[in-house]
Amino acid sequence: MNEIIDLRSDTLTKPSIAMKDFMLNCEVGDDVYGEDPTVNLLEEKMAKLTGKESALFVTSGTQSNLLALLSHCQRGEEYICGQEAHLYKYEAGGASVLGGIQAQPLVYEDNGSLNLELVKSVIKPEDSHFARSKLLCLENTHDGKVLPLKYLEEAQQFASENNLLLHLDGARVFNAAVSLSIKLVDICKYFDSVSLCLSKGLGAPVGSVLVGPASFIQEARRYRKMLGGGMRQSGILAAAGLFCISNNINDLKKDHDNAKLLHEGLSTIEELEVLSSDTNMLFIQVSQDIEQALLQYLKENNILISGYGQLRLVTHRDVSSEDIHKVIDVFKDFFKTF
Ligand SMILES: *Cc1c(COP(=O)(O)O)cnc(C)c1O
Repeated sequence: MNEIIDLRSDTLTKPSIAMKDFMLNCEVGDDVYGEDPTVNLLEEKMAKLTGKESALFVTSGTQSNLLALLSHCQRGEEYICGQEAHLYKYEAGGASVLGGIQAQPLVYEDNGSLNLELVKSVIKPEDSHFARSKLLCLENTHDGKVLPLKYLEEAQQFASENNLLLHLDGARVFNAAVSLSIKLVDICKYFDSVSLCLSKGLGAPVGSVLVGPASFIQEARRYRKMLGGGMRQSGILAAAGLFCISNNINDLKKDHDNAKLLHEGLSTIEELEVLSSDTNMLFIQVSQDIEQALLQYLKENNILISGYGQLRLVTHRDVSSEDIHKVIDVFKDFFKTF
């Protein structure tokens, strides 16, 4: 039987046998009582890795971002973010539904940053007409693009001058750090809070972590309970995260190399426009009439990619360089016959 090469997302990775062994053997307790040693250890390690006071293990990146928004902003306050920001566009409007918090979205620059002059122009003055501008949210990586450190420095300076808190949706911030060959803390230090996913490229089956100041995490812990996210012997899940941060971070480099390989291979096909990213994602554009046939052909050849308008291919730890060569060959075959 042919194995499926699944490039739809880096969330599709499955736990390895070694990871499952590690999960089986971890010590657990009731985490709502603060008594799960494995959760506590993961939180301690994540706080250290990101240079923050405290960390909170949560069910998903969506929950992590929501807790950050609820903890930073009160009813009638607003956060400023990208129009395509995951926490604005893809999280079911949680902050407005549950927190009475307003979003002020702005168009991203091509490199995934927000133009700070544009941000400045939407900060509301203190006046009873307006929501209170409270928080600026960035995403790193955004569509696989890594924000330059110089920009992060400017954003931090800007936020502090304008009395805004700064949150990072760092679902893939591990990819950003590996791509720049720097420590995680060298990105996280610019932000008041950071949300990190363990269940994407790192390969854990479940889990994200929110980090920030102790008082902020205390507030987030309260909201996590309120939202039904207080889990009991969750050390069994946190163990997967611990395994990942001990073993899998440097493997992200392979994913980036595979994305580069894929980019080089697909770029030789005239009919394709291939947009590269700095990390593990590739976007391609083909004409509408070709798109459906291409997706179908790939599927018949056991290759899945994601497509809504723009086609997206994501490399991850369950895709090898041999798989990438096969994908390139199948693409070439398609365009030979189409
Ligand atoms: C995946 C993702 C999230 C949400 O994570 P889930 O665990 O799927 O809820 C948040 N932000 C970004 C940028 C993401 O890619």
